[in-house]
Amino acid sequence: MINILIVEDEISIAKLMKMSLKRAGYECDCVYDGEEAADRIGTGKYDLILLDVMLPKISGFELMEYIRPMGIPVIFITAKNAVADRVKGLRMGAEDYIVKPFEIIELLARVDVVLRRYRLSDDIIDICGLHIDPQAMRVQRDGKEIPLTKKEYDLLLLFARNPDTALYRETIYERVWGGELEYGSKAVDLLVQRLRKKVGWNQVLKAVNKVGYRLEVRQ
Ligand code: CA
Repeated sequence: MINILIVEDEISIAKLMKMSLKRAGYECDCVYDGEEAADRIGTGKYDLILLDVMLPKISGFELMEYIRPMGIPVIFITAKNAVADRVKGLRMGAEDYIVKPFEIIELLARVDVVLRRYRLSDDIIDICGLHIDPQAMRVQRDGKEIPLTKKEYDLLLLFARNPDTALYRETIYERVWGGELEYGSKAVDLLVQRLRKKVGWNQVLKAVNKVGYRLEVRQ
């Protein structure tokens, strides 16, 4: 199931978006200010964030600084005529923007494109010798199923969806466990070691010095 967070202080727009996205099969939550958004994003639950620029307490741009290292895709929601905001959002690493007022069909199309780009649709992923079926939560190598725990599976999917990208330990922790990694904790390293062994990724799931780990697809 894909989880989307809608951050928009115009409650009627937020509710309309939520209803439409739910109807299209996504799980959705709405928050109405930047502070609440930061709290929710920190849970590691969300696959995509729809982010208004002008928000109470913390602006969309400030939130973007916080989201970027986490590797969660963002679509900015901008006001009509705010061309500078659109450009700034894209420069900050947003995947796309949508201009208010928008048609629901346009919103759904943009969400779909971004999720596909991030391989967040339920499409099959073939990567580094593995055949991953996100809908069935099933992982196979050479036609044989590899049983994984929920956390191992979440970690696998995180790497599979971010190939050739160095992921910070803190980011991995936030995305797999939710919450903050405690200083000195080896939780991430231990889970990575287990996953490597189980799925045969010893050669491709590489440690990145002082950062975390990277799945090397381009050898
Ligand atoms: Ca607003």
